[in-house]
Amino acid sequence: MSKVFFTDMRCRVGTSLLHKLGSLLDKAGFAQIPFTKRYAAVKIHFGEPGNLSALRPNYAKTVADKITALGGRPFLTDCSTLYVGRRSNALDHLESAWENGYNALSCGCPILMGDGLKGTDDVEVPVPGGQLLKTALIGRTVMDADIIISLSHFKGHECAGFGGALKNIGMGCGSRAGKMVMHNDGKPQVYPGACTGCRFCSRSCAHGAISFGADGKARIDHTKCVGCGRCIGSCAFHAIENDSAGANDTLSKKIAEYTAAVLAGREHFHISVAAQISPYCDCHGDNDAAIVPDIGIFASFDPVAIDRACIDAVNAAPSLRDGQAGDHFSGIHPAANWRAALDHAEAIGLGEQQYNIVRI
Ligand code: SF4
Ligand code: SF4
Repeated sequence: MSKVFFTDMRCRVGTSLLHKLGSLLDKAGFAQIPFTKRYAAVKIHFGEPGNLSALRPNYAKTVADKITALGGRPFLTDCSTLYVGRRSNALDHLESAWENGYNALSCGCPILMGDGLKGTDDVEVPVPGGQLLKTALIGRTVMDADIIISLSHFKGHECAGFGGALKNIGMGCGSRAGKMVMHNDGKPQVYPGACTGCRFCSRSCAHGAISFGADGKARIDHTKCVGCGRCIGSCAFHAIENDSAGANDTLSKKIAEYTAAVLAGREHFHISVAAQISPYCDCHGDNDAAIVPDIGIFASFDPVAIDRACIDAVNAAPSLRDGQAGDHFSGIHPAANWRAALDHAEAIGLGEQQYNIVRI
């Protein structure tokens, strides 16, 4: 069984969460990684401006300082998005990171965009054990790193069910072309009965795929749609869904395969902060209220075990909506299947869902 190290959010007077994160890394064996004189990519989601549940830079600084103290050369990184928003090219992305408080001073290391100015600087690498994909398109800077550290905010996701280590690495390290490959099996539909014609969805589509008919209802042109799923989360009326449950499963499996491609042959380590657990991912420029109380910080060498441990902890917690424990992710996103990425990741040898929790 993989070990997943955990610390809760309680802090005695004089002990901050950052101290607790540092102790967690020490106990989890972070220092066993041979950092000396090696480049360590700390993969993080800087958060779309306006989203206040994304991670604060303080967590990143604690991780970067630890790597520096161990002789390594850390940098924070992320790749361009497919979305309309402020992270679809390196300049906008850096400005967004700065706006959210990420800079060399606050983080103790530089920020390097993973896939170049326009999200096109990628490398085609093999997917070990890939069943759906033989190769993956990963940001070149990410692939140039010697060591991968995932620092993720654990939360819900409209297509994958949840976002944690696998999504941070698999989707997050794909270039824009790589993200298209992962998304392109899922092209959503509009349910006209639920559509109010508010037109909000069209503002979230970077590909001009949404138009409106004489009835004022939204329509999606599947010849233009790349299946990024952004419009699903942007519709407050649940009028857009991915018609095929299989499409979401395929997306999740491809995320697992991209994760395998990024991590193959390199030391890697995973940290997930399960706090402000919002229903949607941090790619939205807004964040709904948390679905459960803050839980804690997890750390592991196994990206599958850490995601499973986070899911189990969230599902064991009482909902902030109705006070009940249960499968919160399926309740929020019934069309998404959170098990798909984990089952597939385990099947291709990326890690295991059986784990032992070590409480710090
Ligand atoms: S956001 Fe939803 S309700 Fe509004 S136009 Fe789009 S599909 Fe219709
Ligand atoms: S219509 Fe297609 S491309 Fe546009 S936001 Fe929705 S899923 Fe993405």
